[in-house]
Amino acid sequence: MDLSYTAAEEDFRARLREWLAKVLPTLPDRPSPDDWPGRRAYDLGWQRMLHDAGYADVHWDASPTTRLIFLEETERAGAPYVGANFVGLLHAGPTIAAEGTAEQRARWLPPVLRGEEVWCQGFSEPDAGSDLAALRTRARRDGDDYVVSGSKIWTSHAEVADWCELLVRTDPDAPRHRGITWLAMPMDAPGITVRPLRTLAGSAEFAEVFLDEVRVPVANRVGAENDGWRVTMVTLSFERGTAFVGEVVACRRVLRELARAARENGRWDDPVLRRRLGRLEGEFRALWRLTQWNVSVAEAGGGVPGTGASVFKLRYSHARQELYDAAADVLGPDCLDLDRPWVLDRLSSLSYTIAAGTSQIQRTIVAERVLGLPRGR
Ligand SMILES: Cc1cc2nc3c(=O)[nH]c(=O)nc-3n(C[C@H](O)[C@H](O)[C@H](O)COP(=O)(O)OP(=O)(O)OC[C@H]3O[C@@H](n4cnc5c(N)ncnc54)[C@H](O)[C@@H]3O)c2cc1C
Repeated sequence: MDLSYTAAEEDFRARLREWLAKVLPTLPDRPSPDDWPGRRAYDLGWQRMLHDAGYADVHWDASPTTRLIFLEETERAGAPYVGANFVGLLHAGPTIAAEGTAEQRARWLPPVLRGEEVWCQGFSEPDAGSDLAALRTRARRDGDDYVVSGSKIWTSHAEVADWCELLVRTDPDAPRHRGITWLAMPMDAPGITVRPLRTLAGSAEFAEVFLDEVRVPVANRVGAENDGWRVTMVTLSFERGTAFVGEVVACRRVLRELARAARENGRWDDPVLRRRLGRLEGEFRALWRLTQWNVSVAEAGGGVPGTGASVFKLRYSHARQELYDAAADVLGPDCLDLDRPWVLDRLSSLSYTIAAGTSQIQRTIVAERVLGLPRGR
């Protein structure tokens, strides 16, 4: 397996680097976490700039290696985070690209790439998080529509989304994994109520979503009826395997900033802290190598990340928490000051071992599907 970059890939890197150096100084600051509509506008605006400069297609059309270079360079340069475009660009979009019909790809993918539409993910329910196949939101066929009733929770970006990748139960009598269907639901359909939830880190990006007889056209179904679990596995492998990749580069940038801050405030004299930062540097380098490996396996196997995604997600989410714990150590008592850099990131890092599937669930997947250990249940 060759993990080095070709001359064409290095040329892409050089052109992108030059473009970023030109445009980034012209950008305003991203709105604060409590201004989620402002963030939506900002994130879509950045996506439009990428599109107009010819970089939007790196998420689906370019090779996964080109995508890695894109993530490496944008993060290294401190370019805006994908933000409200997270679901559309990083898992709903790739799922539709892999599983949708030609009409579905033509309808939904270009507006995401052009920065025109935001997606959210309606998977979790009050009693179906880790045990996702326990979901109870029902959909019954009525002519050319599904009529959907139930509720979803922890739906990031629901308040500002145009579309929702929604899991519904279409056959209540089938074994639980077999009666599920994957739908694209328009968020302005009658019968949808969105109730925002405020997070520990101060943002209102989550919501509860209540669905009361919401009509969703059958044409919005991705994959066959009752085959949604298989489609969901594709979505989750993108969510765990590639969606957080850019953030590994961002974490390495934060690590360098921490070392600089520690040198300035004297904390660098502490050998325990220096060792901690050094160990984290090793950890993030290893994660980047793991990412390259996962991407090269995906590239060889049709573009969908495999179970290596769970190994990445497990290690990454813990390393991220350790990084921001180290940040608190560098800041000392200032880590209680919400206006200091890294303090809100530290609070939000707690969620990373839960979002996109908890560490306990990833460990079970790694044990059963990567290591081939006997099933525990
Ligand atoms: C920041 C963030 C963003 C999110 N965004 C979205 C979103 O946009 N859309 C969406 O649909 N969902 C979203 N979620 C929800 C997320 O997917 C769920 O929180 C997650 O899957 C865990 O489910 P749960 O909260 O129901 O916890 P539970 O399933 O109730 O788990 C509680 C605890 O029990 C453990 N546990 C449960 N079952 C087992 C088992 N079999 N073996 C061992 N341990 C077990 C879990 O690991 C956990 O520690 C988000 C969550 C977070 C934190």
